[in-house]
Amino acid sequence: MNRRDLLARLAEEREPWDLLVIGGGATGLGTAVEAAARGYRTLLAEAHDFAKGTSSRSTKLVHGGVRYLKQGNVGLVLEALRERGRLLKNAPHLVHNLSFVVPRYDWWEGPFYGVGLKLYDLLAGRLGLGPSRFLSLAETLKHLPTVERSGLRGGVIYQDGQFDDARLAVTLARTCAGLGGVPINYLRALALTKKDGLVTGALLRDEETGETHPVAAKAVVNATGVFADAVRRLDDPAALPLVAPSQGVHLVLHRRFLPGDSAIMVPHTDDGRVLFAVPWHGRVVLGTTDTPLDSPPDGLPLEPRALPEEVEFLLSHAGRYLAGRPGPEDVLSVFAGLRPLVRPLAKVTGEGDTAALARDHLVVVSPSGLVTVTGGKWTTYRRMGEDTVDQAALVAGLPERPSKTATLPLHGGREGMDPEEPWSVYGSDALALRGLADERPELGAPLHPRLPYSGVEVVWAVRHEMARTVEDVLARRTRALFLDARASVDAAPAVARLMATELGEGEGWVARQVEEYRAVAGGYVLESHIDKPPSEAGFIRRLP
Ligand SMILES: Cc1cc2nc3c(=O)[nH]c(=O)nc-3n(C[C@H](O)[C@H](O)[C@H](O)COP(=O)(O)OP(=O)(O)OC[C@H]3O[C@@H](n4cnc5c(N)ncnc54)[C@H](O)[C@@H]3O)c2cc1C
Repeated sequence: MNRRDLLARLAEEREPWDLLVIGGGATGLGTAVEAAARGYRTLLAEAHDFAKGTSSRSTKLVHGGVRYLKQGNVGLVLEALRERGRLLKNAPHLVHNLSFVVPRYDWWEGPFYGVGLKLYDLLAGRLGLGPSRFLSLAETLKHLPTVERSGLRGGVIYQDGQFDDARLAVTLARTCAGLGGVPINYLRALALTKKDGLVTGALLRDEETGETHPVAAKAVVNATGVFADAVRRLDDPAALPLVAPSQGVHLVLHRRFLPGDSAIMVPHTDDGRVLFAVPWHGRVVLGTTDTPLDSPPDGLPLEPRALPEEVEFLLSHAGRYLAGRPGPEDVLSVFAGLRPLVRPLAKVTGEGDTAALARDHLVVVSPSGLVTVTGGKWTTYRRMGEDTVDQAALVAGLPERPSKTATLPLHGGREGMDPEEPWSVYGSDALALRGLADERPELGAPLHPRLPYSGVEVVWAVRHEMARTVEDVLARRTRALFLDARASVDAAPAVARLMATELGEGEGWVARQVEEYRAVAGGYVLESHIDKPPSEAGFIRRLP
């Protein structure tokens, strides 16, 4: 997958595309893979990098959502569990099984999580990952030696999936390209083009060169997450808002705070929230929060910031379930993401398939033919893509073709990879990375003593994964920014130099890249959130 070649395909194309997908997060990439797999001619335009938005900032769980069962939303859970099973089969290099322990403090919660998780097992059926079961107090303490003991009665253990979100996004982009689709990053949709009131394509701008490309498409899909309303307004300035953004924050801690192999799931904290502490790439990811946010007039930020009270909530609860009492100084990285939640039905009257609102994602066709897809979650990205392409194919008048993605292996998919092994997330490409390391042993040196990456991943990312900036490599091709923000800043100059050689860039480019990376990574260092007043730290306002 090479950006220059894909741009050349874009420039050469004379016929309208069957589908233009705007947005290269989970939803847009899932839609583009779905369309390309059905043999539709597909172009995807991502304004920044693949998964730069919410899709690199999740809790990294491929799950049915045990808590939705408590709300009685069995259909939603069933669909997500089916998708979990498919993803485990289609991307075994990126998704694996993880044990979760629910510590049980209240007598009435025990029965719910016991019976509820049995229902969870049942719904997963033959795609289940293993049965849940009650744990005695002693067993619970064996799994979670550091959990608060006061009032603890025991626990329940269940199985769910875990993945690497940004790596899955890059894998989807490669899968799409492998199927003949054209996914391009740093390509922004500036405007929609219309004829007789119907959307006929878009004006795209290459964010690297400033060059614009008018493209024609039989259907245009708006898959821009929390930015979906901004794109809808390009079509109709009076379009009703569909999305209610809600912020979720995670803190990343050293692994010593959760020494066992199991994750912790706290179904409701004393103020009613769900909390996860999950081992991930040799660290612990702790989250999350659910803070409804106001949409400022100048638009939502690509780099949202944690609110001080979100950090405070996570740290104060971490002390109850983790070894030691992590303080601000123990936070290796803090990251915030914006959920593109669908607004309540009353606010979206007047258009679209309202039945779709009963599920947690929504596909809406505007009178102009613009297809907008929003809501949902990473776990259900494939199903969202399937529903969206069904609608888009109708709008475009494309020949009807059945979905193929339920059993489609994703790029590099290879079973039997140990998630702890280096390069396991590359699947069958791991062999080629090994070859590169043998060919150029100087690339094998670690980028930083605290990071599990070397120059091999950097060169690979530029050559095969369309990494264009130091941030692309450190945040999404590797996960250095999320694992240890400060270490990633130290590694930035070496990464920039390796990239410059690959891209034919000079010293000026290296200096600019390092500077720009420092500015972004500063937001992942906790002090920058708690030392500055909210106005300076770039917070968005919490809704009352
Ligand atoms: C805190 C948190 C935790 C979560 N945890 C989980 C989890 O554990 N498991 C799970 O299944 N789900 C989880 N989710 C949900 C999941 O992450 C999201 O549903 C999903 O990532 C949304 O993807 P998206 O593609 O719709 O949006 P995004 O990833 O935001 O993608 C939209 C893209 O559109 C691009 N864009 C915007 N405007 C334009 C334009 N004009 N032209 C071109 N491109 C444009 C943006 O740059 C962006 O990359 C979590 C979400 C949050 C916030």
